[in-house]
Amino acid sequence: MAAAPSITSYSPTLDRVDIGAHIPDFLTRHFTLEQSCPPDLIVAGISWARVTVVCCSPLAAYLSRCAEVRASGTTVRPISPLIFPLRSHPITHKPVPGTPPMKLQLFRNATLKLDYAGHTMLIDPYLATKHSLPSFTGRSPNPMVELPVGIDEILDGVELVIVSHLHQDHFDAVAKERVPKHLPLFCQPGDEGKIREAGFTNVTPLNERTEWNGITLTRRDGSHGLGPVVELMGPVIGFSLEAEGEPSVYWAGDTVLYPPVEKTIRDTKPDIVVTHSCGARWNGDLIVMDADETIAVCESFGGTVVATHMEALDHATVTRADLRRAAEARGVPASKLLIPADGETLELRRP
Ligand SMILES: [Zn+2]
Repeated sequence: MAAAPSITSYSPTLDRVDIGAHIPDFLTRHFTLEQSCPPDLIVAGISWARVTVVCCSPLAAYLSRCAEVRASGTTVRPISPLIFPLRSHPITHKPVPGTPPMKLQLFRNATLKLDYAGHTMLIDPYLATKHSLPSFTGRSPNPMVELPVGIDEILDGVELVIVSHLHQDHFDAVAKERVPKHLPLFCQPGDEGKIREAGFTNVTPLNERTEWNGITLTRRDGSHGLGPVVELMGPVIGFSLEAEGEPSVYWAGDTVLYPPVEKTIRDTKPDIVVTHSCGARWNGDLIVMDADETIAVCESFGGTVVATHMEALDHATVTRADLRRAAEARGVPASKLLIPADGETLELRRP
């Protein structure tokens, strides 16, 4: 591995830490420590991994205590106060008042609830009881695990529903019955007829880009495999979310890693990418990302990856533990790749 880069100078008059030019581009956006930057924003920067931070002793003391910094392998070294007269330029880190962090709660498989820009969205509701649906491979009936909370709790407060495609593990009969029919629902173009047939009255195909309550939703291309299996799987979409003051989110959906996904990440530089990472296979063909592809996403940009769609279906080939092990072997820290448990809520902030 290359030598750990280090922050090379600290200027108390500018109240910022300047870093060496040798640090890769994708790291640098996380390394301007403004005096007003709250500590939780600083330490949420996933790219703290494997660098040496040289900073004033109060900040060093704070960072050394921070679990996320410790877990990322960051080395923190205080600068001697004899070198920089820090006493006349005390560093204060006050939380920025105002907006609460974005919340992402994983229920099971791809089913997520997002609290984003003051609104609550439900993505790909798959609400079937454990083992109530047929197996894909003969290994087990599906879903393989129960929902972690009741359906009422999942639906509580939901103002918008997004359905990426009509595969059963993304929008099942229970969801069609239980999700309130009046809620606005975005889907991929072509699925609106079937969703309306199920009784939903406010269905909008997501064409390119739309605004909803101050949130910009942009449709993104996905490919549910590569080669002939795509015919079998049918079309899918991903989407991006952006809103004032919120982290930008790219929800990639049921897609493998292929050039349009890489291009979306490269062009939009999202703060968060949500992947489907269980390595599901259909007749041997990969139909969503596996560990290698998820790690490649982690390595391709400066933000945080949230791996979902795991340990719920019997055609999956990658467990959460497999993914974590593979990520560790490639030097991807736990702070960069989040793998929520079913029911877990992540609080995510703008870097
Ligand atoms: Zn699917």
